[in-house]
Amino acid sequence: MYPIRDFLNRSVVDFEWVDLDEVNDIPANKLDVIRNAGNYPTVEFPDGVLVCNPTLEEVAGHLGWINKPTYQEYDLSIYGAGPAGLSAAVYAASEGLKTVLIEKSAIGGQAGTSSLIENYMGFPQGISGAELAERARQQALKFGVEIVLLQEGINGTFYDNKIHVNLTDGSTLVAKANICATGVEYGKLNLPHEERFLHKGIYYGAGASEACFCHGKDVYIIGGGNSAGQAASYFSGFARKVFMVIRKGNLSDTLSDYLVKRIAGISNIEVMYHSEVKELEGDDILGRIKIFNNKTLTETWHDTSKLFICIGGNPNTEWAAANDIIRDVNGYLITGSNLLKFPEFQASWKLDRLPYHLETCVPGSFAAGDVRFNSVKRVASAVGEGAMAVTQVHQYLATI
Ligand SMILES: Cc1cc2nc3c(=O)[nH]c(=O)nc-3n(C[C@H](O)[C@H](O)[C@H](O)COP(=O)(O)OP(=O)(O)OC[C@H]3O[C@@H](n4cnc5c(N)ncnc54)[C@H](O)[C@@H]3O)c2cc1C
Repeated sequence: MYPIRDFLNRSVVDFEWVDLDEVNDIPANKLDVIRNAGNYPTVEFPDGVLVCNPTLEEVAGHLGWINKPTYQEYDLSIYGAGPAGLSAAVYAASEGLKTVLIEKSAIGGQAGTSSLIENYMGFPQGISGAELAERARQQALKFGVEIVLLQEGINGTFYDNKIHVNLTDGSTLVAKANICATGVEYGKLNLPHEERFLHKGIYYGAGASEACFCHGKDVYIIGGGNSAGQAASYFSGFARKVFMVIRKGNLSDTLSDYLVKRIAGISNIEVMYHSEVKELEGDDILGRIKIFNNKTLTETWHDTSKLFICIGGNPNTEWAAANDIIRDVNGYLITGSNLLKFPEFQASWKLDRLPYHLETCVPGSFAAGDVRFNSVKRVASAVGEGAMAVTQVHQYLATI
């Protein structure tokens, strides 16, 4: 159920979530259909169609969002529709490049899961990540970008001055240049039972769509970065109490100053310093967690059915494993002058010029945003890099 709620929430689709076990005003004949199907959740679309336990593809399909690329070849293919990819799409299409944007999940990337982005210029009251992403999506469509949702670039090969990318549906997308803006994904705890409780008490990321199910509950958030801080602030408006579980002895090393102050001022948030979650227990859903204090070396059990994991992520660059794209030991894409330190770059780069600032070791293949080695990990910088990458795409295209 969570993936559907999360997808709709991040896609800024209004919906009502009805628990069949609670009093509700669903007509009896419709209730019978749903109960007889016995396969929840059931989604009723605006045209009245009921679909039992749909996949995300089915939901997106019914909303008219599943499109296939219309051309065989594009000037530019962009992978990832977070802030970097969306910004690149807007600038590329507005400057006349035939552009396709591929997104494996929901538009907006990590930013789309943020309840309130308060440090993005131009929005003094803040803006929800989903709304910012929806505005960018509309802007990109206005300029003629093709957006292909729920498709993933799984590997790419480079020949004839073009990138050929295999997508999950088996098709191949060809473009003269590409921008990889695939961002990062939250890390896992790697604890026993973590998979079993996924979406049944354990959620990766800030999970804003889950907030209304946290009324009166004790919510635990692991992580001390801005995403965890924002989540704590947001959930405090719903939960009985919010516990931020952090390894370190302070928040100021990892959290923006405005969030440190905000959290200190919210009475139902408690920061558990020097703390690490070590065990997960429960029956069908998560029931309790064991927290180890790395200062006092003590362990305590805490009852909870809501644990949000907002710890440092891993870059989405598995697609690069099978080709010659140079990454650092953690998988981040290396671009520009940082490539000069790599002996394999010296051996493979054949051009007279050096790579542009956001260009990888393959001419015409660029990286922007969080996926790039040494990137800033902020919405504004991802947006800036998306725009900058497009300028460098133009420079590259002028040379081929
Ligand atoms: C909860 C939360 C709150 C935050 N709050 C703030 C804030 O207030 N201010 C701030 O400046 N920053 C904030 N950040 C950080 C900011 O959101 C990120 O730095 C920013 O989103 C990075 O943008 P990106 O486009 O590089 O990558 P991402 O946002 O990670 O987007 C990458 C996209 O690529 C897609 N993708 C991955 N692999 C593939 C593939 N193979 N094919 C196709 N698509 C793929 C993913 O599904 C994703 O949509 C927050 C992050 C989180 C998680």
